[in-house]
Amino acid sequence: MGEDMAEQFDVVVIGAGFGGLHMLWKLRGLGESAVALERAGDVGGTWYWNRYPGARCDVPSVEYSVPWDRELEQEWDWSERYSAQPEILAYIEEVARRHDLKRDIRFETTVTAITRDEERGLWVVETDTGTPFEAPVVISAAGCLSTPNLPDIPGIEDFARPLHHTGRWPHDPVGFEGKNVGVIGTGSTGVQASTAIAAEAGHLFVFQRTAQYSLPALNRPLTKDEKAEAKRTYGKLRHVQRNSFGAATIEPPMAMKAFAIAKEKRFAEYERRWNIGRQDLLAAFADIGTDAEVNAEVSEWVRGKIRGIVDDPDLAEKLCPTVNPFGTRRIIMDTGYFEIFNQDNVSLVDIREDPIARITQTGAQLESGRFIELDMLVIATGYDAVTGPLLDMNITGKGGQKLNDKWAHGPETWLGLMMHGFPNLFTITGPQSPTVHANVIMAIEQHVDWIADCLQYMDTEGIAEIEPRHESEVEWAMTVAAIGSANLRAKDTNNWYLGQNVPGKPVSYMTYQGGLDRYRKVCDEVAADGYRGFDLRRMDAAADA
Ligand code: NAP
Repeated sequence: MGEDMAEQFDVVVIGAGFGGLHMLWKLRGLGESAVALERAGDVGGTWYWNRYPGARCDVPSVEYSVPWDRELEQEWDWSERYSAQPEILAYIEEVARRHDLKRDIRFETTVTAITRDEERGLWVVETDTGTPFEAPVVISAAGCLSTPNLPDIPGIEDFARPLHHTGRWPHDPVGFEGKNVGVIGTGSTGVQASTAIAAEAGHLFVFQRTAQYSLPALNRPLTKDEKAEAKRTYGKLRHVQRNSFGAATIEPPMAMKAFAIAKEKRFAEYERRWNIGRQDLLAAFADIGTDAEVNAEVSEWVRGKIRGIVDDPDLAEKLCPTVNPFGTRRIIMDTGYFEIFNQDNVSLVDIREDPIARITQTGAQLESGRFIELDMLVIATGYDAVTGPLLDMNITGKGGQKLNDKWAHGPETWLGLMMHGFPNLFTITGPQSPTVHANVIMAIEQHVDWIADCLQYMDTEGIAEIEPRHESEVEWAMTVAAIGSANLRAKDTNNWYLGQNVPGKPVSYMTYQGGLDRYRKVCDEVAADGYRGFDLRRMDAAADA
């Protein structure tokens, strides 16, 4: 591949979801020449791929909107409290249209390798289109949940009827009417898909390995008054988002520890928060996430709700989560999930009790000998989350070091933003940052702003390269682990936040669990301290090196 064929930019951005679009827009403001490379055929990121029936956001629409276009806040009307995928995708389209962002995006362009050319102080980004791109700076906005995790169930490749992973859902309509449909997976995705498919399918078989906690979203159309109020109060909302743990309007926990008040008052608080239709129950008391006894009480309280919804007591018991504590996995927000099990056309297949021995051409063979014929399989088994999208890109840093080797035992970063040995490579919502523990659009904003400030600082100070020191990564790993180990999540055994959901993946604290507000302060302090923990190399020094 000749160097002369390469397209040159100041910055290459990877991804054209919310992160890539925001970064592209910001870079334009800085006067940097930038291109975004996107695997998909259009903008949208996760909302481009996840077209499965029932796909919907679990953050209220008004809050799940870009904070950097004040005009759009006033012009866009969200139809529902929790928007469905088509509406969110249309919104992202509108963001791209009004800022004319698509002119700087190369679609259907998959990054195949990113290699540091130390001599020229550039990243060489190779793609499946044949055209390489070169830039001193690369910013990955490849997302946290974009590399599908395919289940290693024997024979799955033999299934001769339609099979769709929810994260690669077809663009053409998929019909379920009269069909025997199997859904494997009962996370946020499986719950949403099953709820929607149950309304149409001849028969739906939900293959459940682990029962999950799910709360009612209480989704509904937004009223005219609510829309007007949202537009009036966006300024206040953004302030709350930027200064809260999860960039959310969730009510803060009660001031005291849970067991400091009477049981009936605690239960009244659980009930009140259950009826808000957000994730507020998780925050009822600060010690729900850290005190096993308190957590056990809330977990049992939620199981009581499930028993109240599902008519068949044996079935209700199977749907009651017992394997992991409440809130250690992402709380699911549903729209009538447990209710579908009262329908005649829905069956739960408990594959913890009776595992799938193999998938055949026509269905699922269980270990007990039971065979379930299926016309279609829906795979909702999640993602090789957080590190997967970065490790997929074959990244080679200084001295020929592969990122895959560096992260063989889990991610190593400084602030979840950069890696030692990989100068000028930034990650938006990357490993060891708050990522999905906060409203991800707001987590993106914090990263985009920090990176933009850093690039500006480099320009002003004549700095060619920024690279974190190894000891900074050690410091950050200790911070991330200290916070992570205090949460009951650390006791979970199959949690994608810890990398446990993908066979062979190293188990580690992949996310910073200390809150976006606290994280923002740390990142700002590091920058104000002259980018503490980084090596900054000036133009001439970088050339000498
Ligand atoms: P997930 O939470 O990782 O759930 C995957 C499901 O597949 C689990 O039930 C898992 O069972 C099951 N599974 C995995 N491998 C399996 C195998 N080999 N055999 C049988 N079952 C298997 O994935 P997800 O539901 O796609 O959600 C991922 C994240 O995406 C969410 O946590 C959330 O952050 C985001 N999301 C958000 C929304 C929303 O905004 N509403 C919607 C969808 C997704 P085990 O529990 O036993 O491992």
